Amino acid sequence: MHSTAPDTPPNSPLTRTDLRPDCSSCFALCCTALGFSRSADFAVDKPAGSPCRNLDSDFSCTIHDRLRPRGFRGCTVFDCFGAGQNVSQHLFRGVSWREAPETAPEMFAVFTVVRQLHEMLWYLAEAGSRTYDPDTLHRVDGLRSIIEGAMGGDAQQVLALDLGSLHARVRSTLMDVSDEVRASYLATGDDHLGARLVPGADLMGQNLRSRPLQGANLRGTYLIAADLRECDLSGADLLGADLRDARLGGADLARALYLTQSQLEAARGDSRTLIPEDLHAPGHWRD
Ligand code: SF4
Repeated sequence: MHSTAPDTPPNSPLTRTDLRPDCSSCFALCCTALGFSRSADFAVDKPAGSPCRNLDSDFSCTIHDRLRPRGFRGCTVFDCFGAGQNVSQHLFRGVSWREAPETAPEMFAVFTVVRQLHEMLWYLAEAGSRTYDPDTLHRVDGLRSIIEGAMGGDAQQVLALDLGSLHARVRSTLMDVSDEVRASYLATGDDHLGARLVPGADLMGQNLRSRPLQGANLRGTYLIAADLRECDLSGADLLGADLRDARLGGADLARALYLTQSQLEAARGDSRTLIPEDLHAPGHWRD
């Protein structure tokens, strides 16, 4: 939940660099607005809309350098896609929920919406850079404009958005780009894994080591603790794939599609793992 990015209000078009979290410019919205249940990822229960017990008065985390050993692994993999600083500094003009407690419910509600909007922008930015179809690029640019335009207004305009409709349009566009990209890789992974390799497939713990997965459709698949070492995932669609504890040592994800920093943080890679240039190797990979 803690990293840095430029402290600027959103400018059109937002790049993936703009969509990185900047916790120093955020009123710890992920640590307050969101709720979580006690599990392997969170050591305690916390209801939505209340500050985490580990939150300091300056919006920093008192256990930031010990999150994993203290049982808060979920915090290390969460990514707001830069929504936190946008809501804090732009939509609420730098006035925190501590300074103006009456704004807290609306600020937290707006954050949950803007986080989804920023996530869509993250994927659309990649879709726009991967498609060669002018019509698809036009659709991508149109959706980015709609989303950025909505966030250029005020909190009420954000809350009034028809998120369901927007999600459907973005999803359709992302899938079209996925089809285009994967076709260029001939989807070799399908040949090797047959019927098991479909969107949403349960591949938990599977040994896929060194399998050629170029252009594979791994959208929404459960790859928890799967062995993907030395796999070539170029052009593979990883939208929403669950990579918790997946072994990525020596894997090539540099041209994987729709990969996020959050997925990398949840997985286990090493110094040989190739990743997109606008993502970074998590610190715990050095372990
Ligand atoms: S443990 Fe730290 S990073 Fe996680 S929610 Fe609490 S304050 Fe935020």
